[in-house]
This record gives sequence, C-alpha cells and structure tokens, in this order.
Amino acid sequence: MATGKKDIRALTKDDLREFFVKQGDKAFRGNQVYEWLWQKSAHTFKDMTNVSKETRQMLEDNFVINHIEVDTMQRSKDGTVKNAVRLHDGLIVESVLIPTATRTTACVSSQVGCSLDCKFCATARLKRMRNLNPDEIYDQVVSIDKESRLYHNRPLSNIVFMGMGEPLMNYNNVIKAIDKITSPEGLGMSAKRITVSTSGVPKMIKKMADDEVKFNLAVSLHSAIDDVRTSIMPFNETFPLVDLKEALEYWYDKTQRTISYEYVVWKGINDTQKDIDAFVKFCKYVPCKVNIIEYNPIDDGQFQQATNVALENYINTLEKNRIVVNVRRSRGKDIDAACGQLANKS
Ligand code: SF4
Repeated sequence: MATGKKDIRALTKDDLREFFVKQGDKAFRGNQVYEWLWQKSAHTFKDMTNVSKETRQMLEDNFVINHIEVDTMQRSKDGTVKNAVRLHDGLIVESVLIPTATRTTACVSSQVGCSLDCKFCATARLKRMRNLNPDEIYDQVVSIDKESRLYHNRPLSNIVFMGMGEPLMNYNNVIKAIDKITSPEGLGMSAKRITVSTSGVPKMIKKMADDEVKFNLAVSLHSAIDDVRTSIMPFNETFPLVDLKEALEYWYDKTQRTISYEYVVWKGINDTQKDIDAFVKFCKYVPCKVNIIEYNPIDDGQFQQATNVALENYINTLEKNRIVVNVRRSRGKDIDAACGQLANKS
C-alpha cells in the first residue's frame, strides 16, 4: 500500500546521520540504523532492538522500509533454487541460486523485464517495466545467501548479473548495489567474485573502465558476424561489433582484466565454420576466456541447441588457438531457471 513516506533505504549513511542530528539526537544513531538496514537486513523498525522504542516509532512515522518478499520458491532436482520475488509495488522478478561442487552462485536481475529484445530470450517478451533500485538488487543477494546456507550449508560465493534485464541499462543502481554488496557495512563480498554480464553496450563498457570498477565483465556475444548477431540481438544494429571491439579494447587497456564471452551455439544460426572463424578472430582482440553455454529452448522452436559435432568443432578450434574455453551445462532446467528462461512463469 502506498503511504507517501520515503523509503529509508534511499538515504545514505550521511543522510541518516544528518536526519538524527536534526531530530536533536546523536549522529551515531544514524550509523546504528544504517547497520540494521544493510548489514542486518532489517525489514521492520521493530527489529532494531538497540534503538529506543520512541526512536523506532519516530522512524515508523517518517519512513518505510521497502523490501522484497520471496513470492514463490522452486527447487530443482539438481539443487538449483529459483525465487520469484515480489517488489514493493507488486511487480515480480526472478533470481536463481546455482550450486556446484566448489561454489554457490546467485544469478540476479537488474530490471523488471528487459529493454532489449534478444530473440532467444524469454525475458525479452516481458518488455522493460522499470529498473530495479539498489536495495532490490541487494535484497535478492541476501535472500539467496540465506537459501545457500539453509540448503547447501555454505554462504554464497559468487554473484552474476545474468538474470532479467540488461545491467548496463540500469548502470547507476547496479553500481550502488555492488557498492553495498562489497562494503564491510553491507555483505563484505569481494568484487572479484561478482560478474556483470552485458549484451554489449559500448559506451557503458567504457564508462565502467573509467570508473575503475573492480568486478568482472562478461559479454553475451553469440556471434562475431554483424548480420548474424543483428538477427538474434537486434540492438547490434545500433551497437555493431566494431564499436563493441573498440570498447573492449578500451576496457582491457584501462583495467588489464580478461573478458569472458558467453556464447550459445544454435543449429542453423551460428554453427558453421565461418561463424567459428569469425569468433576466433574476435577472441584475439583482447585477452579473454569463453563460456559455451548449453541452450534451453523457450517454446517457439526457432532456436535449437546445435549438434555435438558443431559444439566440438567450436571447442577444438578455440583450443587450437589457445583460447580458454569452458562448457557450461545448464542448471535448473526443470524449473525454467536456466539461462534465457526467466520469464515469470512460476
Ligand atoms: S538476453 Fe539479457 S539483454 Fe537480451 S533480452 Fe534477455 S535479459 Fe535482455
């Protein structure tokens, strides 16, 4: 229900300190409340047990704490967990916990729907409704960390921005969320364990390099031939491969950090020798590694996983050219939690 009160988590720590001073209280009260809001993820003012009853009531009268709620949670046979989370305005996004032998990874959303229209992606059908706020991104990570501890007896180890939405189209909020996730006053996770995956927005890749971000960059490439890429990722017409290449070179010059390319091989779309040769050439522009991702059909049948022969061809050619390549089996297929399948169907 809309109350007209301000979301207290939109305030910085300095804002909170100032607020308490204006109320005739001590500035450090702001630190205490800030700790409850972020490090302890309090969802109500009543949770703030080291704050006086009067102060809690005053906060209640002035603010709300907008937070996400896990609306439905599904567990896959392979241990993957998918959350459909309800935002304060009733909209739903999805986030996924992916456990492997060595790590547990949160795949989080950055937008409700998506502003881009990749033809192979279920999220694209939802269209973009709005950007997520930093706290809504942060809360997804907190929920998944709890589930990781509950179901897999270990804390979350990695985060990938590969859920719903194009993170670089919500850059400021994604950066604010990552600042909170990595801050000792938030979750204290290492930025090295966070990967932002983009479909390739050249201007924003350069901005990230200029901003000296410490997290990893992944690019969903899927083709290194403009015509093919535009047919499956139409925004490639606006941001062609030549611009993407230039932005990635800029990134590497500034950060000296390797880029990951996410790549799906589809039957009859990008499975020829010409496609492979173009990809290998692209991989040589900047130091990179390649993740070949198993495809999970969405229901229209236009996109189908390529044959094993085509996949082997890709892998062998990349390896012959000394390019590190991993094959990522999809997880959580039985609950529509795999890559490209997030579409609020649960
Ligand atoms: S693949 Fe990513 S960028 Fe493309 S439509 Fe889906 S969510 Fe958006």
